[in-house]
Amino acid sequence: MIDKCIACLKENLDKNTIGINKKLLGESVDTFYCIDCLADFLDTTVEELKDKIEEFKDEGCDLFE
Ligand SMILES: [Zn+2]
Repeated sequence: MIDKCIACLKENLDKNTIGINKKLLGESVDTFYCIDCLADFLDTTVEELKDKIEEFKDEGCDLFE
């Protein structure tokens, strides 16, 4: 698994960032965006993505910590 943003090449993406990539892009993706580039790609905001991460965590999703 490549834990590096495919857009800006930022390394060491954290578990929550990888989790939200999987949730929004599909669990089978093996390339990931950092939170900034993902927001950009999905035409949303980092704040909104962080809210979503919190929602998934509340649901007990194990893709998040
Ligand atoms: Zn990036």
